[in-house]
Amino acid sequence: MSDYTKIILKPGKDKSVQRFHPWVFSGAVLGVTGELNDGDVVEVYDADKNYLASGHYQDEGSIVVRIISFIKKDINKEFWKDKFVDAIDLRKRIGLLDNKQTNAYRIVHGEGDEMPGLIVDYYDGIVVMQFHSFGMYLLKELFTEILIDVMGDKLEAVYNKSSSTLPRSAKVSSKDEFLYKKNIPENIILEYGNKYFVDVVEGQKTGFFIDQRDNRKLLEIYSKDANVLNMFCYTGGFSVAALKGGAKLVHSVDSSQKAIDLTNKNIELNFKNKVNHEAFATDAFDFLDALQKDVYDVIVLDPPAFSKHLQSKDKGLKGYKNINNKAFYNIKKGGIIFTFSCSQAISKEDFKTMVFSAAAATGRRIKILHQLSQGPDHPISIYHPEGDYLKGLVLYVD
Ligand code: SAH
Repeated sequence: MSDYTKIILKPGKDKSVQRFHPWVFSGAVLGVTGELNDGDVVEVYDADKNYLASGHYQDEGSIVVRIISFIKKDINKEFWKDKFVDAIDLRKRIGLLDNKQTNAYRIVHGEGDEMPGLIVDYYDGIVVMQFHSFGMYLLKELFTEILIDVMGDKLEAVYNKSSSTLPRSAKVSSKDEFLYKKNIPENIILEYGNKYFVDVVEGQKTGFFIDQRDNRKLLEIYSKDANVLNMFCYTGGFSVAALKGGAKLVHSVDSSQKAIDLTNKNIELNFKNKVNHEAFATDAFDFLDALQKDVYDVIVLDPPAFSKHLQSKDKGLKGYKNINNKAFYNIKKGGIIFTFSCSQAISKEDFKTMVFSAAAATGRRIKILHQLSQGPDHPISIYHPEGDYLKGLVLYVD
């Protein structure tokens, strides 16, 4: 066995690790035996020197260890390869591999796949790796080798897109680049048969909001003959789904002109512009302020994370409440609202309470039809409730 530096926890501070929570906070550490470098594999022990877990050490931020194993092991290529194989097996189990209708999905979802600090998305041949921790970032070449081994013909290229997600110390040396390039296929992906341009290099996140796949599909059902407003449309995911579902008219809104251009491109790609669609590059708050009553039958609200940290939670909740209130007030009788929050800092309960108070302020009769989350290729470890980040409600407004 390799000799790893040991991190000893204070008495009583081992409880969360005993319950398989994958984070060790700096306040829990009693002492360290040996040398510590950013990104190193370390072993975590309780105060009585019993082994608890192995993980990546990181200087920056309050999480000092991100746990990658609760069993004492050598952390080598085989260890990581097993993890990738497990993650891909799960995607096979949920029907996403070799799926004729959908060829974009998440292969590795951080803690949900017991690989904290790593996101891997697949776009019909192009893999985008996004590193959120220094320890994972140091393994980028090894992971590329493993992906080539395990994915065979399915892999055309691997792109590292982490310059905005890494801790400060690592950001300095990281540049977004292809780590492997056999050939770059035309970057059009399929989602439930709908086509989308995905720009992995210039696009937001890894290129597409794959986590909303099943929620976009659900929107199809509610869009027949409806006037649909898609707020925060990005590249028009929900807009394409609504038109596919038979919407009479779709309006898409995003403050980014680039996003609006891509939305128009995606509409054309799917419908050759034979549909009633208009996109507006404008601020959502201004657009909703000017909203007329009784225009839309369906409104989608999928804003960016207004609360990135716990400190900004209250401000974020105010923002959410404001846009939800406007939608509740203006939607037609018998209307449907799809409302979301992707802020990790806002819990399901916080989100519901916010929606309740936005609703109550309008006095309308409102019912919950569906409670939504991210797709199953973004699994949530039962021991890591923080992974339950995407909250959504489908509401009936009478
Ligand atoms: N629903 C989209 C993803 C939304 S991401 C999908 O299914 O793909 C959030 C989007 O909100 C981004 O495209 C961002 O450009 C946009 N945005 C952020 N702040 C905004 C604002 N104040 N007004 C309008 N759009 C905004």
